[in-house]
Parts: sequence; C-alpha cells; structure tokens
Amino acid sequence: MRTIGLLGGMSFESTLPYYRIVNETVRARLGGLHSAKIAMVSVDFHVVERMQAAGDWTGAGALLADAARAVESAGADFLVLCTNTMHKVAPAIERAVAIPLLHIADPTADAIASAGLHTVALLGTRFTMEQDFYRERLCAHGIETVIPDDAGREWMHRVIYDELCRGIVHDASRTRLHTLIDALAARGAQGVVLGCTEIAMLIDANGARVPIFDTARLHAEAAALHAFDHAPLPRRHADVETAKDG
Ligand code: GLU
Repeated sequence: MRTIGLLGGMSFESTLPYYRIVNETVRARLGGLHSAKIAMVSVDFHVVERMQAAGDWTGAGALLADAARAVESAGADFLVLCTNTMHKVAPAIERAVAIPLLHIADPTADAIASAGLHTVALLGTRFTMEQDFYRERLCAHGIETVIPDDAGREWMHRVIYDELCRGIVHDASRTRLHTLIDALAARGAQGVVLGCTEIAMLIDANGARVPIFDTARLHAEAAALHAFDHAPLPRRHADVETAKDG
C-alpha cells in the first residue's frame, strides 16, 4: 500500500474528517484492522489566513511548498492538499516536490461527470468562487460553474472564516445556505460543489433539491483509492495542462 501525504490544518475542522474518511475507505476495502498509511503535516491556519487576506500568495505558496517537502521527506508517495482555496498555489507546491499532487477538483469533476451533470454551482471562499484557478480546472473537465451574487459570495466567505473554520455551526447559517442553493438551482445549477472543505458541516445533503458534491469527502475517498498499489498515481498538473492544451 502507498503512503498518502496529507497537508492539512486549513482548517483543522476539515482535516479531521479527511483523516477519518481516508482510514474508513481503506478499512472498507481491506477489512479487519487495516488502516491507511499516512504521512501528515498540519500548518498553523492563522498564518495562512493572514497571507491570504494580505494577498501574499507567493509567501503562502512558499510556506506550503516547505510543508509539502516535509510530507515528501516523511515518506509520502503522493500529496493531498486538504483545502480548495490553497490549490491556488498548487503550481508552487508541485514545483517543490517530486511526488504527484492529487488535485481536489479532479475527483470532484469525475463525480459530477459520473452523475451526468455539466453545470454546477460553486460555493467556497471568495478566492475559490471568483478567481480562475478552480473554475478553469473544472472547465478542463467540461464542467461549467455558476456562483452566487455578490451578497451571497460575501456571506459564504464570512461564514467560512468566522464560523466553520472556528468550529461554529449556526442553524441560521444552515437555513440561509439551503436558500442560497435553491436560488442557484433556479439559475440552472444541476448540482452544487461544496468547494470549501468545511461547508459540509452546514449541509443536510438529503434536504437539498439538487445533488451535493462534497469536495473534502470526494478528495479523501480518491486519496484512499490511490493508495492501493494497482491504482494509477495522480496525474501531475503539467500533464493535465498538456492534455487540456492538446
Ligand atoms: N478549507 C477551505 C477551503 O477548502 C477554506 C480555508 C482556506 O482558505 O484554506 O477552501
């Protein structure tokens, strides 16, 4: 079995379920007392968040590149960055290590395609919803995205940092999220990507009127499956760019 490299802490509220889902998926496959082989580094999210807010993406990329090198040195065969937003600096991380990165948008796109959908709402931080790095990755898989209006994006961003990343879950936020999803479905979204690893804390997937794609769960399950020796290793970013361009 391969060793999974988890780069977490962004925030630790969502790294906890990653650890559990990876292990549960391996145990479900192998049975008995089997669990995943994991090399893990968890960063101080306060430092990362300050860099995000200051627009210091170069500094954040360098910080996570260092952390990724530590994961690689600890014996990981591939890397799993346990956050959507910080995939903005995925190229800097990939340049720092020799092991491949399992990009969070790839298993998400695979699940959307398997469900036969092509247009989904994208919820996450403002960075993830408004910038190109995530939307274009989904687009490379043939998936179009719609995002909330400015007030909806502002609300979602604030709830992520002020509530969910601090372990706070308010019923009022849960209600508003479901209202937001209904509005996005009315605008043509066939499903909803929880493009922030904490949003599942707020969602009642059974209560939503469209399919929900929880990136943290999909990413963690895909990581577990890539741990089995017969599975192909994740593609490197550069391979995906070449495939898209070609
Ligand atoms: N975990 C969140 C995400 O998936 C937000 C925290 C962060 O900014 O990394 O985007």
